[in-house]
Amino acid sequence: MATLLDGRRLAARIEQRLQTVVAAGLEAAGRPPGLAVLRVGEDPASGVYVANKEKACSRIGIRNLGAHLAATTPAADVQACIERLNADPAVDGILLQLPLPTGLAEGPLLAAIDPDKDADGLHTLNLGRLLKGEPGPRSCTPAGVMALLADAGVELAGRRAVVVGRSILVGQPMALMLQAANATVSVAHSRTTDLAALTRSADVLVVAAGRPRLVGAEHVKPGAVVVDVGIHRLDPDPGEGPGARSRLCGDVRYEEVEPLAAAISPVPGGVGPMTVSMLLVNTVVAWCRRHGLDATPLADLLI
Ligand code: NAP
Repeated sequence: MATLLDGRRLAARIEQRLQTVVAAGLEAAGRPPGLAVLRVGEDPASGVYVANKEKACSRIGIRNLGAHLAATTPAADVQACIERLNADPAVDGILLQLPLPTGLAEGPLLAAIDPDKDADGLHTLNLGRLLKGEPGPRSCTPAGVMALLADAGVELAGRRAVVVGRSILVGQPMALMLQAANATVSVAHSRTTDLAALTRSADVLVVAAGRPRLVGAEHVKPGAVVVDVGIHRLDPDPGEGPGARSRLCGDVRYEEVEPLAAAISPVPGGVGPMTVSMLLVNTVVAWCRRHGLDATPLADLLI
């Protein structure tokens, strides 16, 4: 039976540590850490994600300084809002919730965020810092995967890792982080031929393809560690009658892969909670740096 890479449990432990760091630094800093989650439009999934992030902030003592703008807000006004948050001394982290409404290009708006307040680690400068191994806020989802692997004691040095997906949000930074941990990394994408042959070579397989239940038993080497980043809401099964509810699933066919794997992350309760945790870590670390506070209690979470 595979070890469960339990993101909910680890996220709760990280939150306790963050609470302690925030409480210890509050007097010296003279203000709590501040995170601004900026939401534009009414994407329903984003509404749930933003609410989860705001609840997590309030649990550990981060002030929520976010804004919710109408879907029709012109790009110049969104940019002006980002610039106000950049200049606001109470704000340590800014997150622009994606996706944006059609018509708003995310590139220039992400680029407008002060790199030192980039709570999501997606600014070009911060991706460059990751590439060069320089300190800086890291992309939350792959950083969360690294924390899950470290907590489970998964050895990466010298192991073969395969990342399925090459997005800037997940796949690319994931591959860089695994490489920095001395794994030998391959990246698969939609043009990869014979995906199963490649993924079967993996000691550590991270799946971020955004394709529900893409990866099954035929893709996994027995004894591999499998991390499922994908998250999808499936419509209710009409066969289950009128009371049937929608279900969440990942990119991995959990029931097929779990019996083969040494360790596996579930969906929900795996990578999702870790993404939120790393957002909080980025914000608290930025607050510590701004006020000359000791962030070493969180050093093991920094990649
Ligand atoms: P994305 O931007 O759509 O990228 C998907 C990547 O997977 C692309 O590089 C694509 O290749 C590749 N791909 C698609 N189909 C494939 C196939 N059949 N075989 C191999 N590779 C394939 O998605 P994303 O933003 O990286 O997100 C991936 C998944 O993670 C989504 O389900 C998303 O909802 C989830 N996610 C979860 C969290 C969390 O906190 N749990 C956070 C972020 C994302 P090409 O480059 O060739 O198109």
